[in-house]
Amino acid sequence: MMVIDVVALLTTLDRLSIVPWQHKTMRIARAAPPMLHAAHVPHAPHRSSAAIIGGGPAGLLTAIMLSQRGWRNIGIFDARAAPPTPNDASWGVGDRSYQLGLNGRGQQALREFGAFDRVSAYSASVNGRLSFDEQGQPTESRLTPPGEPGAEKTYVTRVLQRDRLQACLLEELQVNHPHVKIEFGVACEGVDVSDAKPSVRICAAATAAPEDGEIESCVVPSEQRAFDLVVGADGVRSSVRESLAALETASTRTVRFDDNNERRYKTLPLHPSAVPGTAADLNWGARNRTLDLGMDALPTVEGEMVAVLLVKPSSPVYDRLERLTSAAEARTFFCEALPAIVPYLRDDDLERFVARPISRLPSFQLVEGDVHAATSEGGVVLLGDAIKAVKPYFGQGANSALEDVSVLRRCLEACGDDPAAAAAAFSAARAEDARALVRTSRAFDGRGPLGTARFLLPLLLDIQLTKLLPAVFTPPMLRGLQDERNSFTGLRKRKRLERTLLVGMLGAFLTCGRAVVRLLV
Ligand SMILES: Cc1cc2nc3c(=O)[nH]c(=O)nc-3n(C[C@H](O)[C@H](O)[C@H](O)COP(=O)(O)OP(=O)(O)OC[C@H]3O[C@@H](n4cnc5c(N)ncnc54)[C@H](O)[C@@H]3O)c2cc1C
Repeated sequence: MMVIDVVALLTTLDRLSIVPWQHKTMRIARAAPPMLHAAHVPHAPHRSSAAIIGGGPAGLLTAIMLSQRGWRNIGIFDARAAPPTPNDASWGVGDRSYQLGLNGRGQQALREFGAFDRVSAYSASVNGRLSFDEQGQPTESRLTPPGEPGAEKTYVTRVLQRDRLQACLLEELQVNHPHVKIEFGVACEGVDVSDAKPSVRICAAATAAPEDGEIESCVVPSEQRAFDLVVGADGVRSSVRESLAALETASTRTVRFDDNNERRYKTLPLHPSAVPGTAADLNWGARNRTLDLGMDALPTVEGEMVAVLLVKPSSPVYDRLERLTSAAEARTFFCEALPAIVPYLRDDDLERFVARPISRLPSFQLVEGDVHAATSEGGVVLLGDAIKAVKPYFGQGANSALEDVSVLRRCLEACGDDPAAAAAAFSAARAEDARALVRTSRAFDGRGPLGTARFLLPLLLDIQLTKLLPAVFTPPMLRGLQDERNSFTGLRKRKRLERTLLVGMLGAFLTCGRAVVRLLV
């Protein structure tokens, strides 16, 4: 399934009001952090030193959260270079980094820590979908604004570039939490948990790594620093996670799933102002089915769009994309492959487009066992992409990463900020939920006709069941994932229960039918 299909399908279903989403709360309880025995709750909060590895969305929000809780010695280490400030002119051209959508989960977490307004100021709203057919004809489909009768969602999706979200959170730290030390260009090689407190091995990163590339190893020998709490928010290739996984005593194990439906991407700015009257507050989508090439574009606050082109690495169109060397060649390519977007292209963007390499999308990955380690006087905890990677078209990576911070906050609160106990409580509260998100998303990512059927059948079934028996059946899984009121494990359990109920109902129906037939003949 492609990005476009998932988003388009949901928007269309929303718009057509096939499912009365607004009347349905799935009532699936979130996993609360486990209650600790009173004897384990320290009398005085520790609130001392924390190292956060990774200054992405999850790491930066964690720093804000810890600072708000009174932690005073907080250091963030990120291997890459710092992004430009959120008001930098370079964001306007939409050239840097892909766009991500903040749904109810992400927005709620940002609000919880007072960071939403700053992020919102640099985000654009998405109010529906603009689908271009293969002839380039657009079809607009708008959602009902939240709060109005018939509204499909309780929130408006806000979008901004991943790096700009990072820039907003950095600014929030600099303005409201200036004591937090942030070091860019510093890589973590691993974590040591053999002493009373965990320590991190950090060093100057060799070179700025590409967006989706490996972090290069250190150029100078690493330095070891001990902290009360180490937070591994260092993304899909987390070095902190791999240190825990290497421990014989730990249950932490990274599970990487083979990607049999791989897509790669390239970003491309589009300019709606080139065609007066084109809506720039919608999620644009276009697809060339013959070439198996997809395009999905989201707006920037400056009124431009950033498109993501999705392509299969084994396809002929991938080679063609790779061989483009000039803006003129790229324009010719788009005239043939995606004519609908040609009016919105600019040559200077195309020059940069051909120079940029094609990037990999993260594939599915989860962590079996614990997502923490405890020492006698400290703790290590993993969150964000370090504990769960899903393909971007489920729109959950950043949102669930921000939500992780909210869960960690509750765990710290329940444990009086004791780092070891809070880390263990986080594992208990979130590890299974993280796995549930990966397993659920993966089940929707099949290849070929069977994959499409596995995606579509439950969706269509749930739509009909919710219409027929709204008190019993809940909206489709993909809608439930977006709703911040649902936990991922709760969703899976609920759907399993509904399937069992359905089989039971069908069985009862058949038995009754047979009995009636027997009576009649
Ligand atoms: C094309 C695309 C579209 C996406 N769209 C969406 C979307 O619409 N909605 C959504 O929710 N998600 C989306 N995502 C996913 C989302 O970007 C990630 O899930 C999110 O950024 C995860 O946040 P994080 O902070 O956990 O990790 P990251 O954003 O990966 O940040 C990790 C940080 O750690 C640093 N780091 C890594 N290794 C080290 C090391 N050894 N030492 C020091 N620092 C290190 C990195 O430099 C990085 O800054 C998309 C992803 C892609 C690729």
